[in-house]
Amino acid sequence: MKILVLNCGSSSLKYQLFDMENEAVLAKGLCERIGIEGSKLKHQPACQDDVIFEDYLEDHDVAVKKVMEALTNPEYGVVKSMKEINAVGHRVVHGGEYFAGSVIIDDAVKDALEKCSELAPLHNPANLIGIAACEKLMPGVAQVGVFDTAFHQTMPERAYLYAIPYEYYEKYKIRRYGFHGTSHRYVSEEAARMLERPYEQTKTITCHLGNGGSICAVRNGKSIDTTMGFTPLEGLVMGTRAGDVDAAVITFLMEKEKLTPQEMDNILNKKSGVLGISGVSSDFRDIEDASEHGNARAEAALDVFAYKVAKRIGAYAAAMNGVDCIVFTAGLGENSGSTRRLICDYLGYLGVHIDSYNNSLRGKAMEISASDSRVRVLVIPTNEELVIARDTKELLDK
Ligand code: ADP
Repeated sequence: MKILVLNCGSSSLKYQLFDMENEAVLAKGLCERIGIEGSKLKHQPACQDDVIFEDYLEDHDVAVKKVMEALTNPEYGVVKSMKEINAVGHRVVHGGEYFAGSVIIDDAVKDALEKCSELAPLHNPANLIGIAACEKLMPGVAQVGVFDTAFHQTMPERAYLYAIPYEYYEKYKIRRYGFHGTSHRYVSEEAARMLERPYEQTKTITCHLGNGGSICAVRNGKSIDTTMGFTPLEGLVMGTRAGDVDAAVITFLMEKEKLTPQEMDNILNKKSGVLGISGVSSDFRDIEDASEHGNARAEAALDVFAYKVAKRIGAYAAAMNGVDCIVFTAGLGENSGSTRRLICDYLGYLGVHIDSYNNSLRGKAMEISASDSRVRVLVIPTNEELVIARDTKELLDK
């Protein structure tokens, strides 16, 4: 069975084609600047050189068509015809309270996704456009939706309710949803496998630390709390996102600086986080570099970031009445030993001890805790695309 996984953003489209016999990636690629001058497609077939097309990609229909041409091209394609592809799995950002798992997309699902668009105005409309493009260009091929929010639908009310008048939850569905669910699910399952423990009897704290970041408390295979909330703005300090801020700061600033809601939103989402504190960059590599060269604000940004992660780990250890395992994943979590060290240095009271040599390694799933550590600490590269392909296959097999 061959499954195409699509992740559509407002001006981008990422894809991976899987052969589910052995879960091998046959090809992957990225369309950038869809609908914007300078668009291009980078196609990366397995075992062959990358190919770059610089044709104008007017919209997502054109981009999907271009991807199909690349996948079936006699020279650098990986299938003879699109008929070989059995299904398409779509990454969908927001499933609201409608979806606690992946689903085959039909009209009712699309209606629900439209309703969720208000909750994720930057993401869900792009996901819907990708779905429509595939329906048009690959008629009759099953489409599956895999949601970033679904894994967190097991959060209890005490974790998802905000203490604002209840009528706003009823009227607008304002509550905490959580994101990165596909990643938290994947790495927590992998962690149980690596530790040879039953997933249903493990308390894991997963730290997805990339440009966006979130932490999840996974108790017995279920998300019971996570740091992102109504939107991916809540929680940790991120590349450009503020994370938790006293809500009064927002009204104060809007008044003082005469800001519109959109301007305020832009500051919190695009100009804050480690970029906002350091003034250097949103990329942790640049900030680590500046900090090493004595930039005090860069050092402060890293400190604020790590302190907050450590506090949340403590909070989730309390929420689960213990923790067996802490997992680091995503760009920063997988690659930055110094950030992992900064965080774990706060966790001595939990009995966390890091093995310096293993913590300096990169690029594979591994344990970085020392043999005397009471809590096991793992680094696991995330693979959201593989989860999407597996869910798609499972739904098709049914
Ligand atoms: P996204 O949230 O966009 O998917 P990623 O998971 O790809 O983000 O993470 C990207 C971030 O990871 C970069 O912005 C960078 O800050 C960080 N990162 C990647 N490699 C390293 C590294 N070697 N050292 C420190 N930070 C890194």
